[in-house]
Amino acid sequence: MRLYEFEAKKFFFESGITIPLGKLVSSPEEAKDFAFEIKKPVVLKSQILSGGRGKAGGIKFARSPEEAYSVSKELFTLKIKGFPVEKILVEEKLEIEKEFYLGVTLDRLNYKIVIIACSEGGVEIEEVAKTFPEKIKKISLDIDESFYSFQAQGLAKQIGIESPDLKTFGNIVLSLWKLYKKYDAKLVEINPLILTQDKRFIAADARMSLDDDALFRHPELSQMGIEKRHEEGEMTEREKKAKQWGIPYLDLDGEIGMFPGGAGFGIMGNDFIVYYGGMPANFMDSGGGPTPERLAQMLVLLDENPKVQAIFGARFGGISRCDDFAKGVVIFLKEHGLSKPMVLRMTGNMWKEGLEIFEQAKKENPELFKNIEIHGIETPIEHIAKRAVELAKKA
Ligand code: GDP
Ligand code: MN
Repeated sequence: MRLYEFEAKKFFFESGITIPLGKLVSSPEEAKDFAFEIKKPVVLKSQILSGGRGKAGGIKFARSPEEAYSVSKELFTLKIKGFPVEKILVEEKLEIEKEFYLGVTLDRLNYKIVIIACSEGGVEIEEVAKTFPEKIKKISLDIDESFYSFQAQGLAKQIGIESPDLKTFGNIVLSLWKLYKKYDAKLVEINPLILTQDKRFIAADARMSLDDDALFRHPELSQMGIEKRHEEGEMTEREKKAKQWGIPYLDLDGEIGMFPGGAGFGIMGNDFIVYYGGMPANFMDSGGGPTPERLAQMLVLLDENPKVQAIFGARFGGISRCDDFAKGVVIFLKEHGLSKPMVLRMTGNMWKEGLEIFEQAKKENPELFKNIEIHGIETPIEHIAKRAVELAKKA
């Protein structure tokens, strides 16, 4: 899980790494007020969960409070690397003497922690790594190995730091390593670590990624307001669960849980829902000839999704038959229970037998069926889609 720069900087501060004077703002007025308060030129930094902001136009400078106002106003209207800018970190602008790179991460090939330093930090670090790989210096450590001040200073020396800065720089390296270990990070990085013209080392940028599988070890994160978040390109918890169960599943943004028979029918169902003014909460395929148990799991995914307000179920019985479909739904009702309104239609192979199974189960326990409307071939599919949208609006 990636942290925002402003979150990572809190950790840096807590670990004794110097960060610039700054404030997180969500309006141009606040940006202006802060620039006025510190009476210095400022840098305005878009807070998005991505690096490369400098090159993408997400980092701007302002010399006056008025300029901070106009520049941040502009930034708030932009999407940087696909992310809308909702918060800006306004900081004192540092006067750069030199930019360094410092990072701690995992070397997955060798099962080691690796500490990386480079004398040429900044937005071109990837270029430096390609063109002058010898400028990148590293120390590898076992996960439970100690790391000492003399080693940290040795690394500093290798990238051209001289006394009296060795101790300061070495301490930053040590703090970063400690931070990495303390929070079970996958990456902690300062790029650039700036040496200012008045000879101070300050972390101008901060990047931290935490190991999702170790988050349970850090309840203090949620106390700090850092909640588990879904990263671009990463599977949601529900998608992971679906994958474990072998169900092709994608989370979408809407409110209608889609429980269709087959991918093609699913695509058409999504179209119908949108046509009638709703939005699908997911796309799902049943993964070819689903067993009743698999069908029950599919419904669990939808019923447990807090975004889902109503469920649209439609099965065109082909090779996978409607009686199996009905059995799956009944298993779900008995073992899990349905908390959302659901409208369901079955046609095709064994649809009458399917209805029969529902009738029987309903006789045994009518309570289980209180949230379901069941239809057969007599009801057109449009009606089902329309009804699902209605139910979601009512919910
Ligand atoms: P990134 O592009 O997302 O990594 O964002 P950074 O926070 O690293 O900012 C990009 C670049 O902007 C840095 O490499 C610096 O060259 C520059 N920059 C950031 N903060 C300051 C600052 O306070 N003063 C100056 N002069 N440059 C800065
Ligand atoms: Mn950076």
